[in-house]
Amino acid sequence: MKYGLVGASGRMGGEIQRIFAAHELCYTLDVTGETSEGVPEVLIDFSQPSALGTTIAVAGRYSCSLVLGTTGLSEAQLEEVKDLGRSVPVVQSFNFAAGVTLFKMILREFGPLFSDWDVEICETHHNKKKDAPSGTAILLRDALGRDCPAHSLRIGGVPGDHSVIFASEGEVFSLTHRAISRSVFAYGALRAAEFAAAAQPGFYSFEEVLTCRRKTS
Ligand code: NAD
Repeated sequence: MKYGLVGASGRMGGEIQRIFAAHELCYTLDVTGETSEGVPEVLIDFSQPSALGTTIAVAGRYSCSLVLGTTGLSEAQLEEVKDLGRSVPVVQSFNFAAGVTLFKMILREFGPLFSDWDVEICETHHNKKKDAPSGTAILLRDALGRDCPAHSLRIGGVPGDHSVIFASEGEVFSLTHRAISRSVFAYGALRAAEFAAAAQPGFYSFEEVLTCRRKTS
């Protein structure tokens, strides 16, 4: 598979290149500019929201699929990404770890049973992370289906820990996901890229990738 990478010089960019070693990197974009040595079949973007306009233009230029992992996107930017999904396959997720998708599915299914309990989200990330709360905290809150406080710690080199804590007068119940290494996100992005390369145009979640739900034309 020929792929392009937005954010190639970043922490995730390095991890993606390591995990995608069997594939051919033919396009890169980061703050220093772009390099191009061919036409990518899929573009991977783990960068910053300010790169999104260029990413969308590049996906349009090459008519290639997009796997988008960048967090901190605005609602308007997410709408632009959904629009792109009308012409090419797009997989967007604020978290490409399979365990977080399972976490989301559990909250969606069982969260309503705890609707009369207090609930809050705690997340911890490395001290270079720019956005807070994390995209994953937002994703988990959306799955829960109700608004709740989200607390963010930015310390050390933590790849990403998320807990959803429920409490009633007499009990505390918490669910936690820990990413032990950044490579889980790169493995997830690879799975999403392989899915997108064979998919019809559409806007897909990582849950649809893991459950292999391709749209039909
Ligand atoms: P980083 O700061 O190490 O790297 C950012 C990269 O983006 C750099 O290569 C930089 O040159 C590039 N960049 C920044 N602004 C740009 C612009 N305007 N145009 C072009 N390139 C630009 O960050 P990181 O730790 O690699 O994380 C990157 C993104 O991925 C963040 O949004 C982070 O939250 C997200 N992330 C997502 C997941 C997921 O599973 N969805 C997992 C980890 C990180």
